[in-house]
Amino acid sequence: MLEAPGRPLVCREVDVPAVSSGQVRVKVKACAVCRTDLHVVDGELPHPKLPLVPGHEIVGIVESCGPGVGSLTPGQRVGIPWLGWTCGACEYCRSGRENLCDAAKFTGYTLDGGYAEYVVADARYCFPLPGDGDDAAMAPLLCAGLIGYRSLRKAGDARRLGLYGFGAAAHIVIQVARHQGREVYAFTRRGDAAAQAFARRLGAVWAGSSEESPPEGLDAAIIFAPVGALVPAALRAVRKGGVVVCGGIHMSDIPSFPYADLWQERSICSVANLTREDGTEFLSLAPRVPVRTETQVFPLDAANEALARLREGSLSGAAVLVPGG
Ligand SMILES: [Zn+2]
Ligand SMILES: [Zn+2]
Repeated sequence: MLEAPGRPLVCREVDVPAVSSGQVRVKVKACAVCRTDLHVVDGELPHPKLPLVPGHEIVGIVESCGPGVGSLTPGQRVGIPWLGWTCGACEYCRSGRENLCDAAKFTGYTLDGGYAEYVVADARYCFPLPGDGDDAAMAPLLCAGLIGYRSLRKAGDARRLGLYGFGAAAHIVIQVARHQGREVYAFTRRGDAAAQAFARRLGAVWAGSSEESPPEGLDAAIIFAPVGALVPAALRAVRKGGVVVCGGIHMSDIPSFPYADLWQERSICSVANLTREDGTEFLSLAPRVPVRTETQVFPLDAANEALARLREGSLSGAAVLVPGG
């Protein structure tokens, strides 16, 4: 539980929350650790619910359903993502862009999340998952996978694709991109030989440091690292008409750069949140790829350690918290 931004999480018993109309109570089996959790815990995102249980990549089993829940039943395995509630009435909701809803609520930010043994969620925003498979392996699909997939769609039909920051999201996106027949170029921190080898193992045709130029001009680049200086770097790596997609919810300031780097119809866009349609589409595609996630499992009590490892960049793949693990 986060009592105040900038402080470590406090491990204490939280009452099993009551379930009301339209909600389900879910026993958490696994919750992956996302970079956004770090930004929330560090106070870099404004106005979190406080005190707060972070975590928005949840895999669990429905334990009970409130009145009016028709879509899920007890015993069903579900995934709970970042998008936790939307108003359904604003201009964005009505035009198929619920990810931009004016009043949206987010799991592990403005709603309590999955660094817990139980979570209560609005049933309409839970994704039914197959009954078999490994909980911890599926958890990173719920954000790294989903946001990564939305970012990939923003890259259009780019054949040569750059990925800046090769962590949880990139290691999933590369598998989907390869499945789609794209060439992937992986950019990591300078000297991060382990991440570069990891990228090559997953099929990157080239892996190097983010200061390097790729051997070929790219059609698109996706930036997952929260580093604004990568935006001009990626712009210089893409060809005419190329797009640079910023896949993170928070990024340091973007330094100024010459207009020539943007000229020739290069563009920059960001990716905000997800829609339920993204989730349904990605979760049905993932087993066909098939996406395999690389995880490091931590017991729930070690949440601070998992966050620290993510901060220092010493994870390969995704950290996953497992209650009682
Ligand atoms: Zn996330
Ligand atoms: Zn709305």
